Amino acid sequence: MNNELIAKGYRLYTGKNIDVYFNTHVCQHSGNCVRGNHAVFDLARKPWILADNASVEEVKRVIDSCPSGALQYNEK
Ligand code: SF4
Repeated sequence: MNNELIAKGYRLYTGKNIDVYFNTHVCQHSGNCVRGNHAVFDLARKPWILADNASVEEVKRVIDSCPSGALQYNEK
C-alpha cells in the first residue's frame, strides 16, 4: 500500500497485479476513465474500480489518460 497516497486522501482499489488509487477531491470529471475502459471503471458499480477486469497494461493506459492525477497506480 502506498501510504503517501492514502495520507493525501486516495482510496485503494486493490488488484492481483496492480493496485489502483483514486481521490474524488482531485477528480475533474473528464470521464476519460469510464470511456477508456468501462469494465474497469464503472460509476454505477460498487466498487466502481475493478483493477482485475483488464490487463495491467490496459489499466495503466487508461490511468495515464487521467488529466487530473486523481487516478494513480502501483504495479505489483
Ligand atoms: S479520468 Fe481522472 S479526472 Fe477524469 S473522471 Fe476519471 S478519475 Fe476523474
